Amino acid sequence: MANTSQRWTLQGKRALITGGTKGIGKAIADELLAFGAEVCIIARKEAEVQTLLQEWQQQGLPAIGMAADVSKPEQRQQIADFISQKWGSLDILINNAGTNIRKKTPDYSQSEYQQLMDTNITSAFHLCQLCYPLLKAATQADIVNISSVSGLTHVRSGSIYGMTKAALIQLTRNLASEWAADHIRVNSIAPWYIETPLAKPVLENKAYLQEILQRTPMQRIGKPEEVAAATAFLCMPASGYITGQCIAVDGGFTTYGF
Ligand code: NAP
Repeated sequence: MANTSQRWTLQGKRALITGGTKGIGKAIADELLAFGAEVCIIARKEAEVQTLLQEWQQQGLPAIGMAADVSKPEQRQQIADFISQKWGSLDILINNAGTNIRKKTPDYSQSEYQQLMDTNITSAFHLCQLCYPLLKAATQADIVNISSVSGLTHVRSGSIYGMTKAALIQLTRNLASEWAADHIRVNSIAPWYIETPLAKPVLENKAYLQEILQRTPMQRIGKPEEVAAATAFLCMPASGYITGQCIAVDGGFTTYGF
């Protein structure tokens, strides 16, 4: 099978990316656009969504988007309705939006627990449910859930965040098995520290950064485009026999024992 140009492309694909205005989500949108996809980005800040859409429009890139909070069920329904109205089917769903509140377990309030669950895992589960008919309507569809190494091992990021990211990896396995017959592949990505606005305050602590680098075989923080490249691969025909997997984009962190 030598026809690489047909396997390493996203030409003709339409992708919904949650949290697409910054950090990893923005890098994923840029990468998918570069490989020929059309994208729809979602974030809460309307002005940032519109600014980005204008930038892409000026470059002749096909992008749409809307402001919505994925932690709210009625707004998730609005996202699915928007895609249904604009595109009628969906080739790629990237569940990327996520957040963290770092605390010791006894210090979390019930509302913080709920906010993290709603934003990081309930949003992904419900968007998969809502988008299922749209994904099924595509010839071949792909879901990528952006998890974290904290879903694989303890990394001091907080128990609730770790729970949500582990749940995303298991959701990936379940849906991959359940929806394979519908031509929907489902994979996840587990990044270690990546240079984004979310990680910035943590990485500003020099002593903590030093500890991170010592525990990372490649001795550096990752770049958003390195997560984006793995995500794009998981949406291409080139990865056509891969489903239910979690790829760590972590500079070797999760394989480094001692
Ligand atoms: P980020 O820099 O904070 O960017 C988050 C993006 O998501 C923004 O576009 C934000 O825009 C949007 N967003 C946040 N909450 C939202 C909500 N409730 N509804 C809709 N959009 C929302 O985060 P990031 O570092 O790129 O992280 C992206 C994903 O990667 C997250 O799931 C995170 O857990 C995961 N991750 C990150 C790292 C890391 O080191 N950076 C490591 C492992 C995993 P608005 O604020 O306008 O909504």
